Amino acid sequence: MVPQSAAVAARAILTSLHEIMASRSGAQAKLNHVVEVIGEKLDSEVCSIYLLREGMLELFATRGLNQSAVHVTRMAVGEGLVGTIAMNIETLNLAEAAAHPDFAFRPETGEERFHSFAGVPIVRRQRAVGVVAVQHVEPRRYEEVEIEALQTVAMVLSELIANAGLIDEDDQLGQGNLPTGPERLQGMALVKGIATGIAVFHQPRVTIEHIVADDTEAERQRVYLAFDKMREQIDRMASQAEFGAGGEHEEVLQTYKMFAYDEGWGRRINEAIDSGLTAEAAIERVQQRTRMRMRQIDDPLLADRMHDLEDLSNRLLRTVSGQLGTAASLGLKGDAILVARNLGPAELLEYDRRRLKGVILEEGSLTAHVVIVARAMGIPVIGRLRGLRGKLREGDQLLVDGDRGVVDMRPTPSMLEAFETRFAKNRERQAHYAAMRAVEPVSRDGQRVTVMINAGLRDDMPMLNLTGADGIGLFRTEFQFLVSATLPARERQTRLYRDVLDAAGDRPVVFRTVDIGGDKVLPYLRHDEGALEENPAMGWRALRVALERDGLLKVQARALLEAAAGRTLNVMFPMVTEPWEFDAAKAVFESQLAFLKRRKKVLPEAIRYGAMVEVPAIAEWLDVLAPRLSFLSIGTNDLTQFLFAADRAHPKLAERYDWLSPAILRFLSRVVTTVAPHGTDITVCGEMGGRRLEALALLGLGITRLSITPAAVGPIKELVSQVDLGQIRQSMAGWLKTPPENMRATLTAWAADHAIDCD
Ligand code: PEP
Ligand code: MG
Repeated sequence: MVPQSAAVAARAILTSLHEIMASRSGAQAKLNHVVEVIGEKLDSEVCSIYLLREGMLELFATRGLNQSAVHVTRMAVGEGLVGTIAMNIETLNLAEAAAHPDFAFRPETGEERFHSFAGVPIVRRQRAVGVVAVQHVEPRRYEEVEIEALQTVAMVLSELIANAGLIDEDDQLGQGNLPTGPERLQGMALVKGIATGIAVFHQPRVTIEHIVADDTEAERQRVYLAFDKMREQIDRMASQAEFGAGGEHEEVLQTYKMFAYDEGWGRRINEAIDSGLTAEAAIERVQQRTRMRMRQIDDPLLADRMHDLEDLSNRLLRTVSGQLGTAASLGLKGDAILVARNLGPAELLEYDRRRLKGVILEEGSLTAHVVIVARAMGIPVIGRLRGLRGKLREGDQLLVDGDRGVVDMRPTPSMLEAFETRFAKNRERQAHYAAMRAVEPVSRDGQRVTVMINAGLRDDMPMLNLTGADGIGLFRTEFQFLVSATLPARERQTRLYRDVLDAAGDRPVVFRTVDIGGDKVLPYLRHDEGALEENPAMGWRALRVALERDGLLKVQARALLEAAAGRTLNVMFPMVTEPWEFDAAKAVFESQLAFLKRRKKVLPEAIRYGAMVEVPAIAEWLDVLAPRLSFLSIGTNDLTQFLFAADRAHPKLAERYDWLSPAILRFLSRVVTTVAPHGTDITVCGEMGGRRLEALALLGLGITRLSITPAAVGPIKELVSQVDLGQIRQSMAGWLKTPPENMRATLTAWAADHAIDCD
C-alpha cells in the first residue's frame, strides 16, 4: 500500500513508534520492532537501521536482510550508499541501487535480490548518527510521500537513539559527517593579525530536544505565532533598508520576504506537525526536504537561495524555541572566533572585546564598515569563506591567519605549536612597533609626515598614546549612534566629545559629523517615506540625512561646540557632493555658535571646517570650494567605490579593482594639484593609507598627511623612515604620465630596489 499523504503515513508510523518508545523493552528490541513497523507501513521488503559506533556505520537492526549480518556489516562514513548518505547528510532514492557509483555490495546481507533503495540520514545536532534505509525487490523509485514519512521516522529515531544511549556521545560529537581532522580554508585577508579561539556562531544553531509532540494543536499554535513574529521582523528589516541593511542587502531581504510569506512553506510545516512532530522538528523536517530538492536542481545560483532559506528557517526555529539571542547576548565564554555570514558594525560592537579574538565571514570586503570596526579593534578578519558554516561546528578550535587569509579548523598539536611560534613573532613585531611610539615619522630626505589615527569610540582613545600618533584625523561620530539603542541625547554626545578632546590633549581631533546610512544602519531612525533604497551607499546617507533632518545636525553641532569650549574644534562633513551642502552644514554650526554666544557660553577658540572628498563630483569643484575650507580629507573607501562604480561591501567585487589603479592615482593627483595653490591641508583617511604599498603611492602623489587604523601606525612610520619622498614623487610623476601595465608590480619592484619594506 502506498500511503495517501505524507502526514497520514507518518502519523500512522509515529503512533506505532510512540508506543514502541514508551514500551519497557530494551533498546535493541525496540529497534527490531521499529524496522518491522516501518517496513510494514511503507510496504517495504527491507527496512534497516545503521548506527554510528566507533566511527563506523553498523547494521543495528533489519527486516528483510540476513539477521546474521546484524552487528557484523559495518561501513565507513563515506563508504557505500549508507556511508554516502551519512557523509552528505543527504537522502538517496534509487530505483536501481547497484547502478549508483557509490554502491558497495555486502554479500553477508543477502541484498542482491533488492533493486530499489531509499535511505535517510538520522541526524542529531547537525551530525548524521545513523541511516534508516528501505529496499524493494521491484526496481522503482519511492514516492515522495514515502520519503517524507521516512524522514519523519529518522527524526524520531534520533530521539529514541539518544534516549536509549545507543550511540556514544563521543561518536556523535567526534565522528559523523563533518570531517573531524584538520582542514584549511582559504579566504580573503580583510584585517591582518593572527588569532586562535573556539568557533562561535553569531547566530547559534538551535538544538532540537523534542521531536514527538504531546499536543499537536499547541504545536500548531506555536508555529503560527512564530511565523507572525518572523514576518514582522522581516518587514521591519525591509523598512530599515534605506540604511543598507548591514549585510542583509536587498536581494537577500526580498528572498526572505518571499519565503516568509510563502504559503507552501507554512502548509508543509503544518502537515509535518499533523504527522505528530513538535513545531521545531516540523520546521527542521521541512528544511531537510527543501535541502534535498534544492540539491537536485543543478543551478549554482540556487545555492545562495538555499542559504537564505536556511537562514530564515533558522530564524523561525529560534523564534519558536525561544532561543533568540545572538552569541553576543549569550556572552562569550572564552577566547572566541566569531563565525557569520556577514555582520553589521553595530553587531560586532556588541561583543566583549576581551574575548573576541577573530572574525571569519562568508562574505565581507576590505572597506565594509564591520571590517573597519574590527580593524580599529585590532581583531583579525578573514572574509569570503564560502560555505563556511557548513564546514565547522560550534566549539571547533580555529587558527585564524589574517595575514594570509587562511583559517585552519581543528588544528593538530604540531600546527598549534607552529602557530604559537608565529604568535611569538607577531608579539615581537608588535613590541617593535610599540617601541617606535616616540619616533617621529620623518622621511629619509628629512620631511615630516603626519600620521594620525581613525577612531570612533571612547575605547579607541588609549590608542593615541600607545601608537604615538599625531592626532585623530577622522573621528567617526556615528559609531556612538551605532552602538546605542536610541538616538544619543545631546548631553551624552557632549560628554563623549569632551572626553575625546581631553584624552587627545594638544593633539588635534577631527570630528566627522554623522555618516549614517549605507552599511551603517540605525534601527531607531526610520526613513519617513519608508522607501526601500536600491543603492543605500548612494542613497539618503551622511550629510544628505543630516541636512534634511537638521535637528540631528543641530544637536550634534551644539554638542561639538560645547565640548570644544576654549579649544580648537575641527569638524568635517562627509559625502559633500556640491559646495552648497558644505555651506549649509557650516551654517548650522554657525547658527548654533551664535546661539551659544547669545547665551554667553564659553565658545571654541577656533573652528576649522573641512570637507571630505568621497563623491567624485566634488573634485570638480575644488578650485571653488578650497578657499572656503580649512582642510580637506580624502575618504578613499567611498571615493573608490564611486569611481569604480563598485559597491565597497560587495563580496564579489572585493578584489576586482586595485587601489593602485592609475585611475585612482591620477584622480588623487588632480585633487592634490587643484588644491595646492590654496594651501589647504589634504589628508587621506581611507583604509588605503594604512597599507604600506598604497601609502608609498600616496606619498608619491605628494600627500603627507595620513589618518589610518591604529595598528598601521607603526608599520607606516617605519615605511616613512625608509622612503626618500623626492625620489618616489619623481618616479610617480613618470608613472602617472605613462602608466605601467601593472602599477602594483611596478611599485613593489621599486620598493624592493630602494630597500623599502612593503609587506
Ligand atoms: C571613506 O569613505 O574613505 C571614509 C574614511 O569614511 P567611511 O569609511 O567611514 O565611509
Ligand atoms: Mg566614507
